[in-house]
Amino acid sequence: MAYQVFFHTLGCKVNAYETAAISKLLAEEGFTETKDPKEADVYVINTCAVTAEADRKSRQMIHRARRTAPKAVVVAMGCHTEMNRDEEGADILVGTEDRPKLVPLLLEKLKLRKKTEEKEDLDAGTRFFEYGSVLLSENTRAVVKIEDGCNNFCTYCIIPYSRGRVRSRNREAILQEVSDLVKKGYSEFVITGIHLCSYEKEKGEDETALGYLLSDVAGIDGVKRIRLGSLEPSCMTPELISILKENQKLCPHFHLSLQSGSDTVLKRMNRKYDTALFRKVVADLREAFPNASMTTDMICGFPGETEEEHKESCAFAEEIGFTHIHVFPFSPREGTKAYSMQGQVDGGTKSRRTSQLREISDRMEEARTKDFQGKTVEVLVEEVGSDGSFEGYCREYVRVRGKREGAVSGQILLGTVTGSDGFMLLGENFHPES
Ligand code: SF4
Repeated sequence: MAYQVFFHTLGCKVNAYETAAISKLLAEEGFTETKDPKEADVYVINTCAVTAEADRKSRQMIHRARRTAPKAVVVAMGCHTEMNRDEEGADILVGTEDRPKLVPLLLEKLKLRKKTEEKEDLDAGTRFFEYGSVLLSENTRAVVKIEDGCNNFCTYCIIPYSRGRVRSRNREAILQEVSDLVKKGYSEFVITGIHLCSYEKEKGEDETALGYLLSDVAGIDGVKRIRLGSLEPSCMTPELISILKENQKLCPHFHLSLQSGSDTVLKRMNRKYDTALFRKVVADLREAFPNASMTTDMICGFPGETEEEHKESCAFAEEIGFTHIHVFPFSPREGTKAYSMQGQVDGGTKSRRTSQLREISDRMEEARTKDFQGKTVEVLVEEVGSDGSFEGYCREYVRVRGKREGAVSGQILLGTVTGSDGFMLLGENFHPES
């Protein structure tokens, strides 16, 4: 009998990748995916613990699964379960590292039909688990994970505790996965990891290891675009940037994690850079990649953040001219240093500061569209309407709308930007690349 599995994924791109990986392993065992949770024989919740809110939502989803599909085997996996091994409501609990062992556990569970009798718990491992080739089939781009874990211990972050130390994926396995994905029609690849720039650092390599890996990825026939996940500013050395500059397939979009534009706050966060270094990295990147998009994450209301520090942060964000800022109010995570720091900022102040920074982000994002007026953009088509209208992202990761009869999803089209609609670029005269 083919079992039906329903997935609910919370959190980041890495989690989405890992859900797809588990889905693939289960498909190999004859499971089929269902979009209706009530039909599920197996209900998988891939949890998140990046904020207290994510923790709360993860717990809520586990309990909801039990109510929605009372006969299903409920599986909770991921960061939240790594930190909450006694979480109630799931039949099988696995953390971040041993998720792939879930499949044999599940088969055994289903075979025995003891769906609610015992809880499974697994110890965290120390190696990168090879899932084999993984597809995020609903998208035109594929995500390839190359690294897990982090050694940085920022004072607000639970990741080094929940995911453990840096371990890198085998280079040959990464290249094989990309080749497999090319054969399946993918041409754009997002290279991701928890701390991307730490790739192969546990083997004594420096930041250039990431650059050389990307050069190898670019060398695979059929790879047209490469994007990078979140990057730590301190890792963006001139040596790495000069390798990246030579990579013609690398898209000029860099998500540099800033968190705060105040040096005193950065110090309390135990970040490994200051605003001067961040400024230099942005200048180096812009010299190597003119018109590159810079995006970032920022936290408002970190413990002790004064009004002055908040203003410094806003001013620095404006100085850099980000294309977009993901702004988060600080959310204390139990088990981190920041949780018990003096000077916790009250909710009202946090939300006011968050709104102020989001307004700045919106203003910058709209202004950024002016940089493209009259320029040629290269768009990977994602959504196509019946009248030939389409949307997709240009290499700089700004959304573009255009029209061309016969446009198909996955196709790359070139056109000229003639206007904008909010954050969206509007283009004309689209034609395939020659
Ligand atoms: S660099 Fe800091 S914020 Fe990022 S995963 Fe590591 S500890 Fe967390």
